[in-house]
Amino acid sequence: MNKYEALKNFFGYDSFRQGQESLVDSILSGRDTVGVMPTGAGKSLCYQVPALMMEGFSIVISPLISLMQDQVRALTDLGINAAYINSSLTQAQLYDVITGCSNGAYKLLYVAPERLDSEVFLDMAVHSPISMVCVDEAHCISQWGQDFRPSYLGIPDFIDRLPRRPVVSAFTATATERVRNDIKGLLRLVSPFEAVTGFDRKNLYFEVRTPADKDHDLISLVKQYHEDGRSGIVYCSTRKNVESTCDILNRNGIPCTRYHAGLSDEERRANQEAFIYDRVRVITATNAFGMGIDKSNVSFVIHYNMPKDMESYYQEAGRAGRDGSPSDCILMYSGKDAAIARYLIDKSFEESPLEREEALRIKNNDLRRLNVMVSYCSHAECLRRFILRYFGESGDVECSNCSCCCGDAPLTDVTVDCQKVLSCIFRSGQCYGKKMISDILRGAATEKIREKGFESLSVYGIMKDEKDKYIYELCDVLTAQGITAVSEEYPVYSLMPAASAVLKGSRHIKARISAAGRARRRAASADPELRKKLIELRDSVARRLDVAPYIVFSDALIEEMSVKKPVNRKQFLEVQGITPAKADRYGDEFTDLIAGYCTEKGIKKVPVRKREESVKSAEVIGELLSDTKDSIYTEKPVQITEFCRRVSAEIKDRTGTLISVNSLRTLALDAFTSEGCIQTEIDTEGHIKRTISPRSADLDIIGEEVTKDSGEKFINILYGKKAQKMVIDLLKNKQKR
Ligand code: ADP
Ligand code: MG
Repeated sequence: MNKYEALKNFFGYDSFRQGQESLVDSILSGRDTVGVMPTGAGKSLCYQVPALMMEGFSIVISPLISLMQDQVRALTDLGINAAYINSSLTQAQLYDVITGCSNGAYKLLYVAPERLDSEVFLDMAVHSPISMVCVDEAHCISQWGQDFRPSYLGIPDFIDRLPRRPVVSAFTATATERVRNDIKGLLRLVSPFEAVTGFDRKNLYFEVRTPADKDHDLISLVKQYHEDGRSGIVYCSTRKNVESTCDILNRNGIPCTRYHAGLSDEERRANQEAFIYDRVRVITATNAFGMGIDKSNVSFVIHYNMPKDMESYYQEAGRAGRDGSPSDCILMYSGKDAAIARYLIDKSFEESPLEREEALRIKNNDLRRLNVMVSYCSHAECLRRFILRYFGESGDVECSNCSCCCGDAPLTDVTVDCQKVLSCIFRSGQCYGKKMISDILRGAATEKIREKGFESLSVYGIMKDEKDKYIYELCDVLTAQGITAVSEEYPVYSLMPAASAVLKGSRHIKARISAAGRARRRAASADPELRKKLIELRDSVARRLDVAPYIVFSDALIEEMSVKKPVNRKQFLEVQGITPAKADRYGDEFTDLIAGYCTEKGIKKVPVRKREESVKSAEVIGELLSDTKDSIYTEKPVQITEFCRRVSAEIKDRTGTLISVNSLRTLALDAFTSEGCIQTEIDTEGHIKRTISPRSADLDIIGEEVTKDSGEKFINILYGKKAQKMVIDLLKNKQKR
C-alpha cells in the first residue's frame, strides 16, 4: 500500500492538501517532522497516513480527552484500528487496551501525556513495536503558547526510555517562531523537517461589520443560517454577553445553547455535547469553548466582540468549515470592543505578579497585537491577504471570498453562465420571470416544472450549484446590457437581437456580481429537500450508534450526496470522501433513500452500465430465480456467502446473467432480518453484528461458536436446507411486493 492508496482506501480522498504530502513523506523517510498548519487544514491525516503504512503502531499524544475520543471514533468508523488511554477508562478497559497493544491490535494509540510515566504503560511501550511518537497540539509544550501543559515536558524522557527511538512528529496550529523553537528544542527533535504551510483557508469567507445595533444584526444573520439548518458558534468576550446573546437568539425562535467558565462542569459538558451532536445547532460561548472541538460541520463563526489578537481570531474563526464546505467568519466590530480590550490589558498589567519590566514587555506585546486586530477591523482591502501576511505568508492569493473583495466585486467574465440563462429563456418559451428561469437552471423539482415537462429541457439543472440570487443577477445584467427585455406588466424575459452574438460566443459579457450572488453561493444543492432527508437519516444513524452525526458523514459529504444522488454502491463510492468501509456500513441505507426519493420525484438516474450492477435490483433477481433448480441446496448447513455463491453460479449457468454474490447476500440478509429470522445490530463502533433470533432454530439456522487464532470467539451463522429455501422464497416474493 502506498500513500495514495492509504489516502484513498482509508480516508476516501483523491489528493493531499497543500503541505500534507511533504510531511507524510518526511515521516515515512524516518525523519523527525514538525508540521505547522492552521486549524482545519488537515494535520491529523499527516500522521495517520504514515501510521497506517509503517510496521507496528504509532502513539499519538493529545492533550484532551474529548479530542482523543473523537479521533478514535472517527478512525474506528473508517475501519482503522485505534484506541485511546486516558483517565476516562476503567481499570479493566485500560487492561484491554494495553493487551491489545501488545497483540498488535491497533495502528494508532492516543494517550494523554500524563500516562507516559505510568508503570503499566511504560512496560507495554518498552516491549512493543512503536513506529512513531506523534505529538499533537505540540504548542502545549511551550510556556509561550496559549495552553501550556507541564506534562508535555515529560515526552522526550519517555521517548528516551524506548529501546529503539521511533520517528517523532509534532503538529500545531500556532506559528510563532518562539513556540516553534520550543517544540523542536524541548522535544529534542533530531534535525527535523519542518513545514509551515497553507495558512489560507479558501473555503472561509471573511467579513467585518460595524453594525449600529449588534443584536439586531445578529438575529437576522443567525436566522438565515438557522433556516438553512447550518450549525455555528457565536463568540463573545464576556460571560454576560454570552448569556444575553443566547437569550436573545432563543427568544427569537433560534434554539441556542451557551458555554462559559461560569457554568457548572456538568452544564458545560451537556451544552457542548448538545452542540456537537447537532441537537442544538447554535452555541454562544466565550473563548473557553473550542480547543478540542473537532466538529467538522461548523458552518459559521460569528464574533460578537472583537478578540484580543489575530492568533485568537484565526484560531476561533478557523473552527468553521473544517470539512471544506463554504463557511462564514463574521466579525462584528465596534470601537467599544477595542476600549474594553485595552482596559483588560491594563488591568492584567496592574495585577501581574511578574517583575515590572517583564510585565511591561508583555503589556506592550499585547497592545501591539491588539492594534493589529483593530486595523484588521478597519482594513479597507482584502481581509484574507491581511491575515495571511500577518502569519508570515506572502498573501499573494486570489481571494474573491471576503467582504472586501466581494463588496467591491471585480469585473469577471460571465459569458458562459449568461449563455445558459439565454438558452433557458429561449427553450422555455420566453414567457417566464426570474424565478422560473432560475428554478429550471438549478434543476428544482417544483410542481410547475413537472407540469410543464421542463425536466426534459437540456438546460434543466445545468446550474445546479449556483444560488438563485446569482442567476437573478445575471438576468439583471443581461437586461441592463440590452440583451434581454423584460415586459412591463409581468416581469417576463425575452431575447433581444443582441442575444445571438452572446449565444454564438462572439460577444463577451463581464459583470460585477454581488457578494451575496457570488461568494456566498455555497454549493447550493438544487435539492434542499433531499439534503434535509439525508441529514435526518444521518442523524438517526448517529443516534443509533451513539456518535456525533459528523462522524457518520460530514455536512460536505451530505451536500455532495444530495447533488450527485448516488443510487448504488458504485456511484456511492464516487462521492469524494466515501471509503469502502463507509460504503459497507452505511451505503445501502443512504442509496436506498436516494433511490426512493428519485423515484418519488420522477428523477431519472442514468443507469450504471456495469453488467453486475444492472441486474442488482430485487425485481430482476426475483425473476431470475423463478426456475431455480433444487441442486443448489446443500445437505449440510453453510454460511450465507457460500450459499449465495452457489445461487450466483447457478443463475449464471442457467441464464448467462451475472449477479454479484454480494448483492444476493445483502438482499438475503435484509430479508431474513426483516422477517425476524436473524437479528442485525450495529455496535457502538459501527460494526455490523448478526446474531440468531428465537425464530432461528425452527428455520434450520444454527449459530456455531468459533475460536479465532487470536483466541477471540465469535458466532458463525450457518443456514440449513430449510433456511436456504426460505432465502429463495423471500427473494422471489420481493418481486411480487
Ligand atoms: P486540524 O487538526 O489541522 O485542525 P483535521 O485534521 O481535523 O484538521 O482535518 C480537518 C478536516 O479536513 C477533516 O474533516 C479531514 O477529514 C479533512 N481533510 C484532511 N485532509 C484532507 C484531504 N487531503 N482532502 C480532503 N479533506 C481532507
Ligand atoms: Mg487536529
